[in-house]
Amino acid sequence: MSALIRQRALINPTQAWSRLPPEIQQEIGRLAITMGLGHMGVSAAIAPRSGFLAAEAEGLSGLCRLIADRLVEAFDGDGQPLLPDLTVLGIKACRTCFCTDAFGCPEGCSWISSNLCSSCAQDARGSF
Ligand SMILES: [Zn+2]
Ligand SMILES: [Zn+2]
Repeated sequence: MSALIRQRALINPTQAWSRLPPEIQQEIGRLAITMGLGHMGVSAAIAPRSGFLAAEAEGLSGLCRLIADRLVEAFDGDGQPLLPDLTVLGIKACRTCFCTDAFGCPEGCSWISSNLCSSCAQDARGSF
């Protein structure tokens, strides 16, 4: 089965963040810290669980709201989010399907080259 992957536009999160005004950058930082600490508390199963769950969820929903309101360039013409370029964060990703070591293709894959996974290499050979 050949997976047809719609070519997606990537957004550079570092550039997007750097173009925001300082007060929005600060708000993003506060929300990210809140979400991260909430997630760590939930993952470590420490009390009060509902407090950590709330911190994680409120941080994430606040981030989404702020991105939707203030980062117009992060969305395509249909209002769908662009895919963040993970390589900017130093994360190795496939150039075709954007899978990573932590989130590989559903059928399983390995690295064929520094930026191409075995699933996509197979698709390229199988296409005509
Ligand atoms: Zn791939
Ligand atoms: Zn893959």
